[in-house]
Amino acid sequence: MLTGGCFCGAVRFEVAGEAFHSTVCHCADCRRVAGAPMVAWFSVKLADFRITAGVPKRFRSSAQVERRFCGECGTGLTYQHADLPEELDVATCSLDAPEAMPPQDHSWTSSQLPWVKLADGLAAFETVRFDEKRLLPDAGALNNCGEAGAGGQGAEG
Ligand SMILES: [Zn+2]
Ligand SMILES: [Zn+2]
Repeated sequence: MLTGGCFCGAVRFEVAGEAFHSTVCHCADCRRVAGAPMVAWFSVKLADFRITAGVPKRFRSSAQVERRFCGECGTGLTYQHADLPEELDVATCSLDAPEAMPPQDHSWTSSQLPWVKLADGLAAFETVRFDEKRLLPDAGALNNCGEAGAGGQGAEG
């Protein structure tokens, strides 16, 4: 059982099932939302994720994407794409033990900051990772973080 929560402890969650994709996202939307050079995420089935304390706030970073965060301390917690309604991405560093959830690859390195130098030897994808389990639309129609159309920094992605 994975457990985690926000910095202040007002929001807590648990994950009953398996994580099936762990990545570091370099897209401009994740970067701006977190105020950080990159954000690590892992994916779970939505049905396996449960809030056990508090009520996170929600906002849309684009028409397709809803993100949840703690309204008290601001910790970013989850990402959900409308095209993947049964899937939820959880911010790896909101886990109590993020060291146990290492990334498998890097995503959206087409938007990577020039002063971020990767030396971990992991695969790096210009946009999203190819994965048959992910029912993503044509990657050519997407911009940052799989968000079709709006958001991000325009030409990127
Ligand atoms: Zn909090
Ligand atoms: Zn992203």
